[in-house]
Amino acid sequence: MICFETGPIRPPSEATSILLRITRNCHWNKCAFCPVYKHDRFSIRKVDEIKRDIDAMAAIADKLGRRVSARSGSRADRSAVIDAVRSLDHDDEMDGECARQMAFWMCHGLQSLFLQDADSLVLRTEQLVEILNHARAAFPTITRITSYARAKTISRKSPVELKALRAAGLNRVHIGMESGSNAVLSLVQKGVTQQEQIRSGCHVMAAGMELSEYFMPGLGGRELSGEHAVESAKVLAAVNPTFIRIRSTVPVPGTPLYRTMTEERWTPLTEEEKVREIRTCLERLDGITSTVQSDHIMNLLEDVAGTLPGDRQRMLEPIDRFLSMESSDRETFIVGRRIGRYRLVSDYVPSHDVEMVRRDLVARFGSVDRAILEILPSFV
Ligand code: SF4
Repeated sequence: MICFETGPIRPPSEATSILLRITRNCHWNKCAFCPVYKHDRFSIRKVDEIKRDIDAMAAIADKLGRRVSARSGSRADRSAVIDAVRSLDHDDEMDGECARQMAFWMCHGLQSLFLQDADSLVLRTEQLVEILNHARAAFPTITRITSYARAKTISRKSPVELKALRAAGLNRVHIGMESGSNAVLSLVQKGVTQQEQIRSGCHVMAAGMELSEYFMPGLGGRELSGEHAVESAKVLAAVNPTFIRIRSTVPVPGTPLYRTMTEERWTPLTEEEKVREIRTCLERLDGITSTVQSDHIMNLLEDVAGTLPGDRQRMLEPIDRFLSMESSDRETFIVGRRIGRYRLVSDYVPSHDVEMVRRDLVARFGSVDRAILEILPSFV
């Protein structure tokens, strides 16, 4: 049976990328806010096993491609690929789920590859180079190869190693900075310091790769809110990453952070307080050219997005608009955003229906803030 293995998650920006599993789960697995791999054992996959997966993907793509040509005589457009994958339903040689997955990637042009799971750079550099070369030979259409990586892991790679990875095709890395504050990093057991964050980020950029740094508004709780915003801005300003991606903190039941909250040692921020934190961070990002993206449903304000420095005012505008609303309008917007009635702050118009939902939530949970805290984990 021709098949390959994939892992559970990838960044939203890699929704159409081929997924190649390099390791299983997370070797650190201690971040207090993270629910993803807590009950799964870490392992590194053998290079030969990963290369077999690449060969399996290529074999499936080849078979689908030949069926597409036989049927349509043209290059793979979406409907031809879907027809081809349907025709494989009774093919005993090929795993059906893998064939469907491959067809999806073919429909999106086989242009990008994402290395799973949490920290692929933990592999020895020469092993990763061998895998990258094999993948690019199998799929010459690939122009972007990306991976999650821990800052700590990158800080252990030399600039020469990072350049070798870049030369082998790895051209974008996603680092979960989360916070630039040493106090917050220690609180959430991130296992990295501010200095290591800065050094690893600068080394990735110097190697010629694109870099996404993730910032988590609210991670320091009310206790460390100011420091979290200011110190995170310090790291981001020092690194000048290609992308700054906002991921608002949501305490998920079952995580150490959630327990800390129930023990009243960490106070979650309200939606409004998280927005204020984003503002504090944004206004300190001087002299950099990063593109800010609010590309996750956990964020309240989707329209805080643009490229610095030119778009700073445009990004502050929805924040200030939200903060200057009457508090009842703010609450109605928050509720409306979470039930899908509004996308942007500029969409807001008072709505009787949303107001009724707001009242119902207040009656059930005691306040909108409390209700949002209960509801948001289901978005993660
Ligand atoms: S390194 Fe990433 S995947 Fe691992 S525990 Fe931390 S946040 Fe979760």
